[in-house]
Amino acid sequence: MSVAFSIDLHCHSNLSDGTLPPREVVARARAVGVDVLALTDHDTVEGIAEAQEAALAEGIVLIPGVEISVTWMAQTIHVVGLRVDTANVALCEGLAALQLKRIERARAIGHKLEKAGVLGAYEEAVAAAGIPAVTRTHFARYLLEHGHAKDMDQAFKRWLGRTGKAYVRGEWISLGEAVALIKGAGGQAVVAHPARYKVTPRRLSDMLREFKAAGGVGVEVACGSHSEDDRRRFALIATQMQLLSSVGSDFHSPANVRVELGRSLMLPPGCVPIWDSWGLAPRVELQEVS
Ligand code: AMP
Ligand code: MN
Ligand code: MN
Ligand code: MN
Repeated sequence: MSVAFSIDLHCHSNLSDGTLPPREVVARARAVGVDVLALTDHDTVEGIAEAQEAALAEGIVLIPGVEISVTWMAQTIHVVGLRVDTANVALCEGLAALQLKRIERARAIGHKLEKAGVLGAYEEAVAAAGIPAVTRTHFARYLLEHGHAKDMDQAFKRWLGRTGKAYVRGEWISLGEAVALIKGAGGQAVVAHPARYKVTPRRLSDMLREFKAAGGVGVEVACGSHSEDDRRRFALIATQMQLLSSVGSDFHSPANVRVELGRSLMLPPGCVPIWDSWGLAPRVELQEVS
């Protein structure tokens, strides 16, 4: 017998660019009724142990995850790894290499900001944060705090995004390398928020084919940044390409009231949920009984 439960397979803690510590992400998930949560920080699994401990205490299921940065045809693609073994050596080494690339890019962003008259962003915001995965979001918050942008969107448009004064293109790992790291750690690879990539439909399907050929198995159909139309479109693509469907809010912070853990993540009919083979329902049933 299957049991309805609330599942969210994509969110961030303050080990990357979220604002809450892992235990608070888990507590929030519990409070809003999420039963199964994957923590998927950018290029790090360092928050998983704390999240796992909190999940046990809160009585929810924590799926160890990660969101890996990939460069494909000069474009950044995010690949979520679910159910990864966080102790896997190759995965940890691969993520450590990405974290170094992040620091190098952050230094370059810091230099560009200084040239444009914004001082101290790298040292005061990014280096001082002392976290494994430094991101553009950290710069964006600094720019906001110091009056250089009125909101996150403007921080990216004016400064950090492709049109911005301090834009530095990320040079990440290949699609095949990311999938191999995830598979090698016993996990399942999923293309994150596919509607967000600014590529033609043909390019997108090339990317998904390459992803599948490399051993990737899923695509996010329902996610925080997808419209109803996006959801229908990717449900169809997932079915046609025989990819499993995933769902994830991409929650980063309570400050963004548009995105909440577990909110509106229903899959259209016909999708095969990636968690169907995980044997989750019995665990959820047991928890409901006890
Ligand atoms: P990075 O991986 O360091 O290049 O940073 C990318 C992160 O920036 C994404 O994961 C988002 O969380 C965030 N981001 C990108 N664009 C925007 C935007 N327009 N507004 C707010 N956050 C954004
Ligand atoms: Mn992010
Ligand atoms: Mn992402
Ligand atoms: Mn994300």
